[in-house]
This record gives sequence, C-alpha cells and structure tokens, in this order.
Amino acid sequence: MSANPSSAARDAASGTSESSSLDPRDLSALRAQGHRMLDDMFDHLQGLGDGPVWRPAPDEARERFRAPLPIGPTDLGEAHATFLRDVLPYGGGNAHPGFMGWVQGAGTAVGMLAEMLAAGLNANLGGRDHMPIAVERQVLAWVRELFGFPDTATGLFQTGASQANFVAVLVARTKALGVDVRRQGLAAAGADKLVGYASREAHGCVPRAMDMAGIGSDRLRMIAVDADHRMDLAALKVTIAQDRAAGLTPFLVVGSAGTVNTGAIDPLDALADIAAAESMTFHVDGALGALAMMSPELAPRFRGIERCDSLAFDFHKWSHVPYDAGFILVRDGALHRDTFAADAAYLTRASRGMAGGDWWPTDYGPDLSRGFRALKTWFTLKTYGVATLGAAMARNCALARALAARVEAEPELELLAPVGLNIVCFGYRGDPSGALNAQIVADLQEGGVVAPSVTLLDGRPVIRACLLNHRTQAGDIDRLVDATLALGRKARRTDRSDVSA
Ligand SMILES: *Cc1c(COP(=O)(O)O)cnc(C)c1O
Repeated sequence: MSANPSSAARDAASGTSESSSLDPRDLSALRAQGHRMLDDMFDHLQGLGDGPVWRPAPDEARERFRAPLPIGPTDLGEAHATFLRDVLPYGGGNAHPGFMGWVQGAGTAVGMLAEMLAAGLNANLGGRDHMPIAVERQVLAWVRELFGFPDTATGLFQTGASQANFVAVLVARTKALGVDVRRQGLAAAGADKLVGYASREAHGCVPRAMDMAGIGSDRLRMIAVDADHRMDLAALKVTIAQDRAAGLTPFLVVGSAGTVNTGAIDPLDALADIAAAESMTFHVDGALGALAMMSPELAPRFRGIERCDSLAFDFHKWSHVPYDAGFILVRDGALHRDTFAADAAYLTRASRGMAGGDWWPTDYGPDLSRGFRALKTWFTLKTYGVATLGAAMARNCALARALAARVEAEPELELLAPVGLNIVCFGYRGDPSGALNAQIVADLQEGGVVAPSVTLLDGRPVIRACLLNHRTQAGDIDRLVDATLALGRKARRTDRSDVSA
C-alpha cells in the first residue's frame, strides 16, 4: 500500500490493463470490427429473401445460450461470430418478404443505422434540457399534424400500443374520478362504478389495461360486432343504458382503427358522437392502422379518428421503425400531465443548466429512464417522407385485395372476412373444425417460403395473411395461394387414403 495518493491511484489502476477497460483509449480495433459488423448486417438485409422466412433454432445454438455467467472477457469478434452463427439465422422472420404472420413491422436499413446513432449517443429521455428531447417533441408535433390534433395535445413514445393503451386508460380514469384517484386508488369515490366498452374484436391489451389500472377487465364490456367485424353501435347503446340503469358509470369507449384479426375499422365518427353524448372518453387503439393516415387513399377510412380524446399507435408496425416505438397522443395535455406528474427532490427542475427544459417526458407516462426512440422515428419520417410510407401501406392493401380476389376465384378456397385494410382471412373449403387450416399454416411456416398465421373467427382456426411488410410482392401472394392449394389437396388425398385403408 502506498501513502502517496497518486501512486495509490496507479496501484488501483494496475489491476486493470488497458485492454480490459470498458472503453479503450484507442478505438481503432473496435472501429474495424464495427465496420465488419455493419457490413454483415447490410449483407443480411440485402439477402433477406434468399433464406427461409423462419427456421427453428438447432439445439446446439440454444445450448450455447445456456452458458454460465461470463466472469472474464471474450473477444468482440468471437462474440459476434456467435451472433452470426446462432442468432441471426434464427430470427422471428418479420423482416422477410414472405412474412405475413401477426402484425409486425419489417424494419428498414435506415432504422438500423438510426438505432446505432442513438446507442452511440446513449441519451436518456426522461427529461432535462438536451436536444434529443427536442427531437421527440418534433415527432410529437408531426403526430399532432398527421391526426389533426391541437397544439395543446401531448404525447410521447411508449414501448408499444399495449403500454400506450394502458396510459390512455389511466388518463381516462383521472378524467372520470379526478386526480385524487392517484392517491386513493380503489378507495376513490366512484372507482368501483367505472365501466368501459370495446368491441369483441378489440386487442387483448385493452382488457389488460383495465386490469392493470385497477378497474378490472370484467368492467370492459366486449360489444358484439356486425358482419364487417366492426363494433355494433346498437348493442353498444343498449349495454351503456343497462349499465347506467344498474348505477354504473360509463367512462370510456375504445374504438379499434384496424382490428388485429381482420383489420376492421370501427365506426369512429359514430363512436365519437356516442362518447360525447354519454360524457365518456373516446380512445382509439390505432396500433395496426392509424398510421395509414399517411396515405391519402387510405385516410378516408379512418374518418372520426381526429375526434378521439386519445390515440395509441405503433411506429414499429406499419411504418417499420425498428422495435420498439409505440406512441400515445392525448388531446387534453393538462389532464395527461395531471395523470403522471409527481414531485421528487432528485428531479427538481431548474430555470437554467442541465435540469432545465419545460417538457419532461417522465411527467406524461410511467417511465423515468427512456431511450431515444424518437431518433429512429425521426430518421424514418424524414428520409422516406410520409407520402412514401403511406404509398407502401396502400400497396399492402392492394396486395390484400389481390389475394382476396384470388381466394374467391379458387373453388377450393373461401374468403372468411371482408378485406377492409391489409388483412385477409381465408380457409380451405370443407374444413368445419379448422384443423386443416391450422395444419396448412404450420406446414407453410415450416416450409419457410411464405408464413401466414392462424387466427380464430367464431372460434374456428382460419388462415390469416397480414400484408404489412413493405418487401412483400405480388409473387409472394401467388406463392401463398399455390402452396395453400397444394397442401390442402395433399391433405385431402391422405384423408381419403386413410378412409379407404
Ligand atoms: C399490436 C397491437 C396491439 C399491441 O401493441 P404492441 O405494440 O404489441 O404492444 C394493440 N392493438 C392492436 C390492434 C394491435 O395490432
């Protein structure tokens, strides 16, 4: 031990060689490795259609990710080689042109680069005075403009629409019960009377938001839908009247701007009228479809969306910003702030210095530390422009119509829901249980050429193609129909030989 402070510091540092410090003073080796990593990702994106949409990860790859906690260092090149071998080929498939499953964005190279810049900056967007906050506010201003919201509306990035819908339910709860509910919770006067409404086709995160908000998912009435899978307005009105008669307080109606099952758009304008007449908050779950407002061709289908009190949507879906990039927009900015803002000594605002800034995102949502989701979104909107993004969405909808037309033209196939947006639900005829549809989808996914998913319509499995990917082309639609027909015929032949055996 040395008594001299400067040699003590040297002694302390001597246990740590230059090469094992977190940031070596000379980054040139990392820089070279970084160029290789970036090149590999460009190669990956360039060759996306070459490999299968999806393949199961082999046991060896999974095994290498059951390793013990690494105590010592590993060379970055070696770790990257593991990534290339064991992770990259076995992704979820959503970037691939043949991916038509669920509702997942495809990403872009621009988004990838922006993510890298954001990570390099390592900004924390909880608050304080720095330019990344101004970027998020820029995106907020663009969102207001896109949806026709006033300048007083507030909003911010969330992980996804699940979290955004949750924030919306909390804002609606504050509006219904007053800010005291934040302290009093379930003991607040009237808290046990709240009741909300969504269609039976609403996303599962809406009842979960009611659950997380302490209101309870039973208090979300799941309203019947019409033949087009849109909320049945007569049924909604009857249910509201029954709830009022029972002494309950209708406080929220959630419209879907594109349901996850069929892409149906609830009658938003009429829901706005009903919400106004009943003094309820009108929230729209636009996770799937709201950003189609970027397309002049698609925007008219969302009439009334500009009247909602709050809107949840996802940049990571139809506008292909890399995961994750959800967003919540709230018309009444003061109410939004009242729902979340809190005083904490360590978050004291200053009129100057780094703790300045008049808009702190932490005042508008559950998070304090937040990443720079705004940057990849800003780059995406800025470099493509809204018209280009909207045109890609309109192309997806044209592909959906083309697929529906081919399904209707094939005697062995049946179209099972109207195609109002970008989702096509269909099936192989004569499959009352839906077992064959489920089998066809599993075979397609494992085949790796095109990958739709299964959903349930009236409890029955159907083939569901969600055309969200900007890389999907007409040829992929043909491959989907051809492969479905081939698999269906093969299954039928096998069935018959089973019967005759
Ligand atoms: C995807 C989706 C959600 C959930 O959004 P996340 O971003 O996955 O949290 C909610 N509603 C609809 C209609 C969706 O498509």
